Amino acid sequence: MNGHEQVIGSYRTQGGELLVGGVPLARLTQRVGTTPYFAYDRGRLLERVSRVRGALPPSVQLSYAVKANPFVPVVQALAQVVDRFDVASGRELRTALDTTVPASRVSFAGPGKSRQELAQAVAAGATIELESRGEAVRVAETGNALGIRPRVAVRVNPDFVVKGSGMRMGGGAQQFGVDAEAVPDLLRWLGEADVDLLGFHVFAGSQNLSAEVLADAQRRTVDLVVELAADCVDPVRYVNLGGGFGIPYFEKDSPLDLEAVGAGLAAAVDRLGRALPEAQPVIELGRYLVGEAGVYVTRVIDRKESRGQVFLVVDGGLHHQLAASGNFGQVIRRNYPLAIGNRMGEAPTEPTNVVGKSCTPLDLLGDRLDLPLATEGDLVVVFQAGAYGLTASPTAFLSHPEAVEVLVGDAPAKETS
Ligand SMILES: *Cc1c(COP(=O)(O)O)cnc(C)c1O
Repeated sequence: MNGHEQVIGSYRTQGGELLVGGVPLARLTQRVGTTPYFAYDRGRLLERVSRVRGALPPSVQLSYAVKANPFVPVVQALAQVVDRFDVASGRELRTALDTTVPASRVSFAGPGKSRQELAQAVAAGATIELESRGEAVRVAETGNALGIRPRVAVRVNPDFVVKGSGMRMGGGAQQFGVDAEAVPDLLRWLGEADVDLLGFHVFAGSQNLSAEVLADAQRRTVDLVVELAADCVDPVRYVNLGGGFGIPYFEKDSPLDLEAVGAGLAAAVDRLGRALPEAQPVIELGRYLVGEAGVYVTRVIDRKESRGQVFLVVDGGLHHQLAASGNFGQVIRRNYPLAIGNRMGEAPTEPTNVVGKSCTPLDLLGDRLDLPLATEGDLVVVFQAGAYGLTASPTAFLSHPEAVEVLVGDAPAKETS
């Protein structure tokens, strides 16, 4: 059966069914064996990485921030195409160390690293991004205890703010990083300590859709790092410029102009290279690499009407995909892109609420969306679910079963074959 193919958004459909990794949705669902589930499309994942590679200056190393999606097959697939990993916990560190990416290209950022986690990172030879003076002391002590010289970088809380970030993680008072003005003093302390200081890390914010703002942040980050480098004893060898590349979640969002970001970054790393010739520039991305490669699929259990409104009750909800319910840091709740995945291309017939099975009005996946008529057994697909999905959701809430995750599809065809 070769149904007619059409394209909805950037998604292909066939005979009214969404294709995920080239597989029609109903068949994929049978193959997975259960709903709800997350499906990540390998082709989309790898294609995205190669687009990023094509746009970024070749001297820049690309790091994947594992917390965006730590599903082991995804991390293993990305290990083949990225240069580095950024991890935020001892468990993510183990996931990264299981890949072919060498430990020397794994960096460990985040507040509140325990002594146990620090020991893991020191023993592995990963780079610890110091978040405070206290952490610097603990790392040095750990290194002494293990007889291994820790590799460290200083995470700097910049003295500027990046506007328009979905989540601000730099500027002002922060639990992240060492305030820029306190860094010279810390560098003097590190100069006396038995640690290998590689360089700096600045991560100013996340989910930014403006190439101009990102370019400005990168330029100011380079200025800051060059200034701070004056107080380093050894040449700076590592400069992690952060990332923050956003993806469009809502109707009014426009995708990031990746070429413009690449051009801005080229200018920034050019300046960096002239001031600090031994510094390796790094960009770390999470959602931009994986977010658009994933869908969350959940089945309609009930269709009911209440005082003139239609409700589709599905077998999943916010306990798997919190962000789509609007409760993951959003100020205003807006609908994530959502479709009835086995009725693609059918005309919308009625404004429909899509709700999860948790006993709270917060469990709303779709608020009065124009959807085709759907009934019990139909498959609701929530898009942009590849990042901060399952592992960023309260999976224990109401003790519902966890969602399954799968990685599907082939790598994109090589140009030569
Ligand atoms: C979370 C995080 C990232 C990834 O952010 P995205 O918005 O997913 O790209 C990168 N770097 C650090 C330090 C982070 O904490």
